[in-house]
Amino acid sequence: MIIDTHCHIDMLNSPDSYLSKKEKSGDFTLGMTNLPSHFVMGLPHFDKLRKSRLALGFHPQLVHEHLSEIDNWKKLIPMTSYIGEVGLDFSRDFIIYKDCQLEYFDYICQCLNGEKKIISVHSRKAERDVLAILKKYNVRNVIFHWYSGPLGLIDEIIGEGYYFSINEAMTLSENGRRIISRIPLNKMLTESDAPYNKKNNIIAALNNLHIDESIVYENFQCLLKTIK
Ligand SMILES: [Zn+2]
Repeated sequence: MIIDTHCHIDMLNSPDSYLSKKEKSGDFTLGMTNLPSHFVMGLPHFDKLRKSRLALGFHPQLVHEHLSEIDNWKKLIPMTSYIGEVGLDFSRDFIIYKDCQLEYFDYICQCLNGEKKIISVHSRKAERDVLAILKKYNVRNVIFHWYSGPLGLIDEIIGEGYYFSINEAMTLSENGRRIISRIPLNKMLTESDAPYNKKNNIIAALNNLHIDESIVYENFQCLLKTIK
């Protein structure tokens, strides 16, 4: 069974046919959303599915344009056990919204304090701030998606019991491989980040690393147990 913990199903060309294909294959897919209003639109499509789930998200690159959605975000938390995509992005195009992002991500994590959820986070160029805010509110069961931050921070993230989801693109880049080699096998999950990531084949990623899919499956089962 292939585990995809970060896929933007609602941004694919035909989400429903993707979902029915996944349902037949038996693979697990966790659908991200970029805004609470997208989550509301998408949720009915997941009603009868056994293998795919939809996460409630508020993407850091969109926060500044959709401030009023935050009230809705809090109200929707009980509707799902999965949160994402949330986080911070301090890369060149988004650093100007840093203060706004920090305020909102702080509030998002405050709302998640004490909640039993699985959370996929975006942390581009903001890894230390993401980790600090998660720790501030003792947020559990976090997956760092497509981590590209400092190698030295990986041990600290692992120390919190958090996971990393890796993808094919990471296995093909030197920096990605350096990062992956620092992640213990029992904290490794897989993702596609489709359709934004074009190198998104999970089987190819596992083959490139010589890792059996059963390892990722076991890791995900351990994570699932924590929200039961
Ligand atoms: Zn994403």
